[in-house]
Amino acid sequence: MKMARTIAELQAARPSGEIGLVPTMGAYHAGHVALFEAARAENDAVVASLFVNPAQFAEGEDFALYPRDRERDSCIAAESGVDVLFAPDASELYPSGYQTWVDVEELSRPLEGAFRPGHFRAVATVCLKLFNLVRPARAYFGQKDAQQVAVVGRLVRDLHLPLELHVVPTVRDDDGLALSSRNVFLSADERERALALPRALAARDRSLLDGLDVDYFEEADLDGMHVLAAAVRVGSTRLIDNVPLEGDPR
Ligand code: AMP
Repeated sequence: MKMARTIAELQAARPSGEIGLVPTMGAYHAGHVALFEAARAENDAVVASLFVNPAQFAEGEDFALYPRDRERDSCIAAESGVDVLFAPDASELYPSGYQTWVDVEELSRPLEGAFRPGHFRAVATVCLKLFNLVRPARAYFGQKDAQQVAVVGRLVRDLHLPLELHVVPTVRDDDGLALSSRNVFLSADERERALALPRALAARDRSLLDGLDVDYFEEADLDGMHVLAAAVRVGSTRLIDNVPLEGDPR
């Protein structure tokens, strides 16, 4: 596996043939590996990006604390068949004078958008930049972040981007908790309490979240993707999850 720290290194390392792109923020777990493996199976080469995008964290969110371990991540990526890991510094993607943003207006507003203003504008922008830099045939995203899938899907259609979006089902621990890089912040007791999130979604029963700090527990039609989505805070950790609802084509 080649590591590219700059756009110039990425261009030099860019594989030939059809590329599957997996955008990530690192701190890899089996959810990321499922995306790498799907990309490996369906493309000539796999490029993953590892970038904790400062623009998508609001003031007071966990940007500084977000787990980072590039050594461990590059081992996991290499073992999972990634050919090029693009891990730029923020100054590489947002040099001084940077001022261009892409806004997927309506889909960015509800759910996460209501609690994380500006989040999806930053997600859409960094994804468009990665698509332009890597020029993938296919890009891979997790169902865990359903609204992100909808926003990026709309971006691809609205701007006629020449790539396909592939969505990988949410990978969960044996107890049902969706894998997330943020789960490492949970104490044993918090982790136990966090299990109410997948249970409430599976049972379609908000009352199972009683005692947790609930940002939302809502059915949503995200551009034709019908989900029950929720966000809760357990201690200082914010967790999101969703389940596709009946009638959803996937
Ligand atoms: P992140 O590094 O958290 O930004 O996630 C990178 C990609 O992995 C996103 O497309 C996520 O939706 C996806 N992902 C994160 N957690 C999971 C999971 N538990 N199952 C499947 N995909 C996931």
